Amino acid sequence: MKLHSRCNLACDYCYVYELRDTSWRERPRTMPGPVREKLLERIAEHIRRHGLERIRIVLHGGEPLLAGAAVIDGFAHSARRAAEAAGASAEFAVQTNGTLLSEAMLEVLHRHDVRVGVSLDGDAEAHDRHRGRRGSGGPGQGSHAKVTAALELLNSPRHRRLFGSLLCTVDPANSPRRTFDALAAYCPPAIDFLLPHGTWDAPPAGVGGTRAQYGDWLCEVFDRWESTGRPVRVRLFESVIALLRRDGGNGTATLGMLPAANVVIESDGALVWTASLNAVADRAAETGANIFGHSFDDLLTLPSAPEAGLGTLCSACRSCPLVDTCGGGLRAHRFGAGNGFMNPSVYCLDLTRLIRHIRRRMDC
Ligand code: SF4
Ligand code: SF4
Repeated sequence: MKLHSRCNLACDYCYVYELRDTSWRERPRTMPGPVREKLLERIAEHIRRHGLERIRIVLHGGEPLLAGAAVIDGFAHSARRAAEAAGASAEFAVQTNGTLLSEAMLEVLHRHDVRVGVSLDGDAEAHDRHRGRRGSGGPGQGSHAKVTAALELLNSPRHRRLFGSLLCTVDPANSPRRTFDALAAYCPPAIDFLLPHGTWDAPPAGVGGTRAQYGDWLCEVFDRWESTGRPVRVRLFESVIALLRRDGGNGTATLGMLPAANVVIESDGALVWTASLNAVADRAAETGANIFGHSFDDLLTLPSAPEAGLGTLCSACRSCPLVDTCGGGLRAHRFGAGNGFMNPSVYCLDLTRLIRHIRRRMDC
């Protein structure tokens, strides 16, 4: 959910503001009180309807900490109360760019036991290549110094237990080994690697030739992870291994054959599909549903609800020997005008390279 829907950074690969979607311009910056109240009703309704014992609310953005400590404190308090009254415990997580992670903010996050995921792309050169401050731009205007200062604070004995993960967007221009080492140096509980979003019509930089640049990059990181004794969980690699061994793993939305059930509640109460669809077209993530008129279950009945399973993939993926592990990759990455989503992933070469490499290394 988006308590706040703008950002204080202007990352050039941002899939919220820099791809095709423009709907954010029409939404309130901070979720207004009546929207928050209705959202809590919907959450309670969902808990009761399904007899849930536990729910997890992820604060996303933009930059969610721009909502301010008081709004986050108040919302988390009310959400916990609403969930408990409906019979469930509530857990919270936040995905932040880290620039506003002050001592005062961490105190509020402590109060509600909010797990913190921070975006970091590696060392200063790697990170600041893309993650600049809004309104500044240019060399030296990156956010690395602020983010690493925040990570030191998060890693201090008082706050360490809140540390959830690091999120790194892959850029083959960065050294894979130096990037992994820079991330692992913070001893995060987990690292997530994200491929920049794109489609066949607007492929990510470096995709489209015969080289699997992103796959090669991830293979090098995998080897570094292995040779250093897997000092940290890397969910992408763990997922590939689990899927290859068929032991039920499906830890990311990018791989495997299970549906990726991602719904976002926007700051005006709109219910939208996962934001990676912003790569497809303006408003491609829209469902037309809003918490004022729709329950969460109503989304399952919409014609635009993403389907999963072999039958929803193109013939190339259906006959691919890696399909049980790959699943055709992230849905948005399969899009191309003409065939819609009935294409292999724009990262097909890269996924093939990574899966085969891990299969060889793991002998599975
Ligand atoms: S910090 Fe996140 S939301 Fe903000 S501009 Fe960068 S990628 Fe986009
Ligand atoms: S995207 Fe490529 S590797 Fe993945 S299932 Fe489809 S054809 Fe196979």
